[in-house]
Amino acid sequence: MTNIAVLIVGGGPTGLVLALSLVRRGIPVRIISEAEGPGEHSRAMVVQARTLEFYDQFGFADEVVRQGIPAGMAHLREGGNNGRGREVVAVSFHDLGEGLSPFPFPLAYPQDDHERFLIAKLRELGCHIDWRCRLIGFSSEVNQIRASVLRNQHQEEIETIEYLCGCDGAHSCVRETLNVGFPGGTYDQLFYVADVQISTGFNRDLYLNLGVNNLTLMFPTLEWNAALDWTCPTRTFSGREFAFRGHPQSGRTSAQYKSDGDPLVFNISRAPSSC
Ligand SMILES: Cc1cc2nc3c(=O)[nH]c(=O)nc-3n(C[C@H](O)[C@H](O)[C@H](O)COP(=O)(O)OP(=O)(O)OC[C@H]3O[C@@H](n4cnc5c(N)ncnc54)[C@H](O)[C@@H]3O)c2cc1C
Repeated sequence: MTNIAVLIVGGGPTGLVLALSLVRRGIPVRIISEAEGPGEHSRAMVVQARTLEFYDQFGFADEVVRQGIPAGMAHLREGGNNGRGREVVAVSFHDLGEGLSPFPFPLAYPQDDHERFLIAKLRELGCHIDWRCRLIGFSSEVNQIRASVLRNQHQEEIETIEYLCGCDGAHSCVRETLNVGFPGGTYDQLFYVADVQISTGFNRDLYLNLGVNNLTLMFPTLEWNAALDWTCPTRTFSGREFAFRGHPQSGRTSAQYKSDGDPLVFNISRAPSSC
């Protein structure tokens, strides 16, 4: 048990930003996550102006902008099988919100880089995340909450706090315990996210490719050449275009994808079909 006022459950972007906001105001927090450590896949790829305006209040918006890639043009393409696609329209995103925001562009900044950045900022303020700590239940008492936290899957700890903040994602223990609900639906299609290096290189533009059976979004990143979000009918995966291989050590799957004659090898993770 520690002497803290607030227990933040979840070390994703929501929990990290909340922790930063409170710690900067001198409020002692404990932030826990059941994960082993920070996320390792790009996932959410674009940061919008409002987030950057918020980071401006924290004093690090410019630093974030330097770490990402402000979007240039957005290209809408159709077709795309065997390199026969064509561009339908191109729109400049560079100054999309000119006059409305000091950050008038979408910023390509992968979620894993983003999370590591926020964690480093928290560390500078002396706040560390307790990884491998899972909230397993809580009860409200007069003016306080008793929360049960399981460390390393076996060691139970009881926290007595004033506030419990549920930042624990789509399958939130906090939300479920409070019976708050989480309205929404799930798409039928499968969506995949891949961090890829393209042999021909990549620029700072965004691409949206609409095929008969698939949809592909390409975003530039600094570490990789590009991150792809795409959805395809399942039958495509048993065809020649894709070959999947599991890597038990890293837990990742690699896939080979043939496009315009160039085979690409990349890491791939399955996205929630509701995102
Ligand atoms: C593969 C993939 C691709 C995605 N692509 C996009 C995209 O392109 N665009 C987009 O906008 N969004 C995308 N998303 C969604 C985006 O990642 C989420 O919206 C975002 O992560 C939500 O942030 P969060 O902090 O609220 O929750 P999360 O990032 O889900 O973080 C929840 C945290 O809570 C922890 N946790 C959960 N339960 C407990 C518990 N009981 N005890 C302790 N800790 C707990 C988890 O370990 C995690 O640290 C994608 C997600 C995935 C998985």
